[in-house]
Amino acid sequence: MTTYHVWTIGCQMNRAESERITAQFETLGYTAAMHISEADIIVLNSCVVRGSAEERVVNKLHDLKHLKQQKPQTLIALTGCMVETDTAKLHKRFPFIDHFFKAGENPPWLEKPSTPPSPLNPQPSSYVTISQGCNNFCSYCIVPYRRGRERSRTIDEIICEVKELARRGAKEIILLGQNVDSYGRDLPGTPDLADLLTDLNKTEGLVRLRFLTNHPKDMSQKLIETIAALDKVCEQINLPVQAGSDAVLKEMGRGYTVEQYTKLVQRIRENVPGVAISTDIIVGFPGETEQQYQETFDLLSKLKFDTVHVAAYSPREGTIAAKQYPDDVPPAEKKSRLSRIEQLQEQVQGEINARLLGQKVEVLVEGKNKGKWYGRTRTDKLVFFSSGENYTGQTVIIEIDKTSAWSLQGKPVL
Ligand code: SAM
Ligand code: SF4
Repeated sequence: MTTYHVWTIGCQMNRAESERITAQFETLGYTAAMHISEADIIVLNSCVVRGSAEERVVNKLHDLKHLKQQKPQTLIALTGCMVETDTAKLHKRFPFIDHFFKAGENPPWLEKPSTPPSPLNPQPSSYVTISQGCNNFCSYCIVPYRRGRERSRTIDEIICEVKELARRGAKEIILLGQNVDSYGRDLPGTPDLADLLTDLNKTEGLVRLRFLTNHPKDMSQKLIETIAALDKVCEQINLPVQAGSDAVLKEMGRGYTVEQYTKLVQRIRENVPGVAISTDIIVGFPGETEQQYQETFDLLSKLKFDTVHVAAYSPREGTIAAKQYPDDVPPAEKKSRLSRIEQLQEQVQGEINARLLGQKVEVLVEGKNKGKWYGRTRTDKLVFFSSGENYTGQTVIIEIDKTSAWSLQGKPVL
């Protein structure tokens, strides 16, 4: 009996890829190893978006080097954003790795290219990739170099996969792409995300649809109206701003101004009542002054996002920013800027969540942790509750009786 282990780090796209790879192993009749050291085949799904993620992958690879010395028959494969088109350098650095395959490509154990199988027992909330790669080349970002140009999957292919997942029990589908707003531009007839959502909204058995990531320069009014009109599409939008200073945004190559972004957020809020908006921020971009940082801080205080993912700038070899701008904000300063935003956001989230006290919210239950059921609202808020019944995969109305910046608690309304 062949056993496997898939190790994953990084974004939702990597998690979706790993689910796909796991499903392939299961289809081949392989079983999950109890521990990585016992597996016959190990797949490392890597991330190099920031230096910290890359270090974790390298540490894992060092562990595997020892494992391979003790068990030379173990097959080791590396995928994800660490894998470049030319793998010669990686071969030289990690000679004990047996296979390299690029993010989104088929692993070598699949004899011929085939449609990736969906998980046999999908999670109540499952990912479906709608496009690979990115054409934007934001100056700090390595993704377009490692994942290539944007390639959209056809609407038919996506519908087929979503229907199958729903048939097998998935209730929520999260559509993934580096820029979902440019979905379809490379397809005949140039369908867009709004068209795709309109078709997927008809899927029997499916309760919710979400999608990420939006790019502020490409999000259309048609899409905003479609989100408002379709019952299964959740009132939740991920809209990375990255910085609140026009000068920094320009050097990042983001293609919008703070004013344009602010107007877009206002338009979304006007059109989609109760919408939750999340964003991403990079602090300490080369040359970012305290004043420019303050503009980002002020924008976050003003717009009050439901969630903010904040990262310290990390120069990535080969990107425009790494070539052109010295990484001149000291690490301690980056850390301070990051933690000031985290503190602000904790307060903002605490206030937003407190408004839900006493309210009844719809929760899609994902599972149980430490004796409590947990799931998410349509606005992506984590909710915990206790009950003796089995709620996995069900939508249940919960009356909120406790809130914090990070989660909500309540009781099922019978
Ligand atoms: N396509 C999405 C977008 O436009 O935001 C997400 C892609 S990126 C892999 C995810 C997040 O990582 C970005 O939103 C950005 O905040 C962060 N990121 C990307 N490159 C980075 C870098 N060099 N240093 C720090 N954070 C980075
Ligand atoms: Fe990277 Fe920008 Fe593409 Fe997002 S849109 S993946 S940040 S290049």
